[in-house]
Order: sequence, then C-alpha cells, then structure tokens
Amino acid sequence: MVERMDVAGAVQEIPPRSGTAFTLARGDRLTVIDPRGEQVADLVAYNRHDTDEVISSGRTLDYASRIYLTAGDPLYSNRSNILLRIVEDTVGRHDFLLTPCSVDTFRIIYGDTNPHRGCFGNLAAALEPYGIAPDRIPVAFNCFMNVPVDGKTGAITVEPPLSKAGDRIVFEAETDLIIGLTACSALQSNNGSFKPIHYRIDRAAASA
Ligand SMILES: [Zn+2]
Repeated sequence: MVERMDVAGAVQEIPPRSGTAFTLARGDRLTVIDPRGEQVADLVAYNRHDTDEVISSGRTLDYASRIYLTAGDPLYSNRSNILLRIVEDTVGRHDFLLTPCSVDTFRIIYGDTNPHRGCFGNLAAALEPYGIAPDRIPVAFNCFMNVPVDGKTGAITVEPPLSKAGDRIVFEAETDLIIGLTACSALQSNNGSFKPIHYRIDRAAASA
C-alpha cells in the first residue's frame, strides 16, 4: 500500500522509447499526458486478480460500432467486462487497431537491420514482474495515435498525432487492474521524433 501511495497524485515521466507498468484499484483515475505534443502512448490493461482477462480491441470496437473512441466510451475485456472508461479527452483521436510497435515492426515496415524492441518489448519487460508473458500482450489502446481509414478501400495510414503539448486523456478503472504504458518508439507514429509521456494516478481511496 505504501508503494502505491508514493506514486499517487504526482506526475510521472516515461522517457522516450520506454515503458512502465503499475496497478490501479477500482475507481482510480489515470491521466495520460502528451507533454510536448505529437507523441503516442500505448496502453494495455489486465484484470489484477486474473491476468487472463485483458483489454480487447475486437470486443470494444464491436460494441462501440466505431473505431475512434473518446470520453464516455468503455474499454471492454476479452470477457466483455468493462476494464476502463474514458472520462476525459482533449484530443479525440486515438487508435485501437494496431499492435504495439516491435522488433518485427521495425524489421518489416522500416527495414531496420538492428531494430529497437519497441513498445512491445518495453511492455513485455514492464509486465514480466507481474507474471504476464509477451504472447499475452494484445492490441494496445494507442493514446494519441492518429490512424485514418479510407472509408471505401479500408486503407489505413499512420499520420502525425493531433495532440498538442499538454493534451491528455483520462481513464477511470472499473476494476482492479495492471496497466502497461509506453512512450512509443516508432518514428512514423510520432511525427519523426521520440518524446516522453507523462502520467498521473489519482487514487479513489486517497480522496476519502
Ligand atoms: Zn510504439
């Protein structure tokens, strides 16, 4: 409990091209901030009491009947329970289609010969202490990622984020969670430069 209280309320920084993991209790709020603008943060969430339950892009987009989510929208799990709800959003454009960038992303799309481990590798490292194996990392909710879709052909492109310095998205935990969160490592997603991500946790219990 002491460890949890230490990080609550203070703004934390995720350095460029890195990631972290932490827990939320039901009712806690997580604010993800883009401090400089045009920087993506990949978010994954697991039920803290049963990590086989994880956020599901497929179920969430199916139930929303849209691919762009914003304030008021719930993020569902693979078991159709709501894990998080978006309660505030100053940008209104995020992606929930694409997997975390990875060694393979950089090898296949960018042609890198010595690829960075990407959000996937950063999430895997951050989630390992919680007993979550790399194969259980799903499609992330990609905060601030701007992926327009051609309505006729279905073609997708990765464009610069619409977020400006200080923009944020706020999530409320609907159950006890393990969260993985990154400052994305892909050039294309972040308009050509790697920047930090800030986040803040506001504990529901701390306000009592
Ligand atoms: Zn990434």
